[in-house]
Amino acid sequence: MDVTAGGRNLEGHLMWTRMSIIAATLALAGCVTAQGSAMSGNAAPDNPSKAEWSIAIHGGAGSMEPGQFKPEREQEYRDALAKALKAGSDILKNGGSAMDAVEAAVMLMEDDPGFNAGRGSVFSYEGRNEMDAAVMDGTTRAAGAVTGLTATKNPVLAARAVMERTPHVFLSHEGADRFSEEAGIEQAPPEWFATPSRRRQWEEFRARQVGWFDTDLKYGTVGAVARDKGGHLAAATSTGGLTGKRWGRIGDSPVVGAGTYADDRSCAVSATGTGEYFIREAAAHEICARVRLTGIDTQQASDAVMAEIGEMGGDGGVIFVSRDGESGFSFNTPGMFRGRADSNGVNEVAIYAAD
Ligand code: ASP
Repeated sequence: MDVTAGGRNLEGHLMWTRMSIIAATLALAGCVTAQGSAMSGNAAPDNPSKAEWSIAIHGGAGSMEPGQFKPEREQEYRDALAKALKAGSDILKNGGSAMDAVEAAVMLMEDDPGFNAGRGSVFSYEGRNEMDAAVMDGTTRAAGAVTGLTATKNPVLAARAVMERTPHVFLSHEGADRFSEEAGIEQAPPEWFATPSRRRQWEEFRARQVGWFDTDLKYGTVGAVARDKGGHLAAATSTGGLTGKRWGRIGDSPVVGAGTYADDRSCAVSATGTGEYFIREAAAHEICARVRLTGIDTQQASDAVMAEIGEMGGDGGVIFVSRDGESGFSFNTPGMFRGRADSNGVNEVAIYAAD
């Protein structure tokens, strides 16, 4: 892909955007039994459900194409996604909450060094792992977020603690680390987060000395969205951000409304990609707002918002679960680590657009 310091190849983007929309539509035709119907009103959760419970996860979007990974590596990714999906699904199947389900799925991916979150986070310009996370509860629209964590083993737990144990929504850097420690959340030394392959990516980035940060997305921001049997929605996103980020740069993942949003009246969304564009689009909120205010289905809203992000020059994708349990993806990159499961028997993981 054509990645330059200040701009992007717009034509290439538009092509990927169109391809991903087509791919998403084809994939959806095979996997989802019914499309969303017009939704109106604000009441939740008295909507007719297409799936009693439903979950979607992602492990980042990027330029991965078939044949790029060794078969064993590809299988490891598929297994890791399936494990996270199962952890969330088991909770929902047993009547657990959407919030517990997204937390469980995200924690497993944070612990997996293959993803860019928790252990295995990318390196900042200075060679540190600085992690961001957010959670949102669609019932109350309560939210919690952290940015610049360096010592919390599972940043998603810190985000949830901000939501549940403080009057705040967003804590940053040193203060966020201190809060998480004081909240009794497990801490880990720098060596826990830093993996040799992420260090290599950072060294390559520093050697090239181009751009503000590495926009050739280093696969792996993680996220989950879910609808539980009570009809409630939740979203969670966790990331190491972008390789080479500097000056306390914050992406979309922990920004409520940009990379993470949940509202029982519409949908839950988690994003991955070049965060600056998702922030400018207020992507996750924009998708939910279009669903709530115009009655279009969540797939349509996601595709439209991803198309706009592509036109601006952004790369990446979103996962969603709607208030009636429809799940799906929309992305404008060649691939996105992703998976979804629901009470109707959908259970799938995928990597490439054509999967
Ligand atoms: N969206 C994240 C950020 O901009 C990165 C990613 O999704 O890979 O920080």
